[in-house]
Amino acid sequence: MDFYRKLPKIELHAHLNGSLSNATLAELREHKYGKEVQLGTNDGFYKILNGETLSLEECFKKFHYAHDLTDRREALELATQRVIEDFARDNVIYLELRTTPKSTAHMPKREYLSTVLDVIRKSSELHPEIVVKLLPSIDRSKGIVEAEESVGLAIELDALYPGLMVGFDLSGNPFGTKFADFVPALQRARSHGFRMALHCGEFDDVQEVKEMFDFGMDRIGHGTFIEGENLEFAKKSRIPFECCPTSNVKCKTVPSYEEHHFYKLLKMKQPVCVCTDDFGVFETSLSQELEICAKTFNLSDDEMIELQQNTIEYTFANDQEKHKLRETLRKFKESR
Ligand SMILES: [Zn+2]
Repeated sequence: MDFYRKLPKIELHAHLNGSLSNATLAELREHKYGKEVQLGTNDGFYKILNGETLSLEECFKKFHYAHDLTDRREALELATQRVIEDFARDNVIYLELRTTPKSTAHMPKREYLSTVLDVIRKSSELHPEIVVKLLPSIDRSKGIVEAEESVGLAIELDALYPGLMVGFDLSGNPFGTKFADFVPALQRARSHGFRMALHCGEFDDVQEVKEMFDFGMDRIGHGTFIEGENLEFAKKSRIPFECCPTSNVKCKTVPSYEEHHFYKLLKMKQPVCVCTDDFGVFETSLSQELEICAKTFNLSDDEMIELQQNTIEYTFANDQEKHKLRETLRKFKESR
């Protein structure tokens, strides 16, 4: 574990709400409801506070808690800070965080997005050891009006927070929605200069993957069910895959670590990186995900360093930032 923790790491697929640790959730809960809240023993939160093992269903409830507990500016600030601190503590040196701009009972959508951006901007002074960028997400289940609003807002705020938003994410439940409906919003984001890191092929839908490839993307989120002709296309186009092993295994889109497509992609020399998705919900860390991959597929420390070096090239960082990341990895390799 020591090696993986010390290894300077690159995280490219992490959702803000899913990346709240149990400690952060507890802190936010106290912040919102005070210390004296009655908890039933059947309450998932009781288990979180007591450090008990959670079922998958209880893990998923954390998304609901996160949503509820970050509905005010101060709470969202605190949550974003803690997520950055947790990644920095795990020796992540570059983080692309994603979140869906949303309005809450206490905060309009614009304030939600600017709050997260304010914290990220401040973090460059508080935590110079980690570079943090934001990918605003379009949540498919929220529909195209929300999508258009988010893109408009991101374009507007990009002028006030230059260089912090580097791409767009498309996520959320794909069932009952059509990718084509989101193309105009995504197209507008891309024309503005945002890169595309889209959840793609999470479920077995050959036609949709094809449509998404026709649109084009810079990175594939998960890509679990990309096979056959679509895989050939991804290979030819050298589109990097963001693999999140524990998330996929726990959500049962992949039957086991051994059968995770990460290894198939690595062997065929497809650009691929390892990410956490929602480290708070799935109770993992990037160090842990990398250790799992190394142990499952018998990869050496040098291969894991190389994986991080390669991952730098898949980031949406600028040339200067990439140069610094390469230097950090080079020094780490030499110091061993
Ligand atoms: Zn995801």
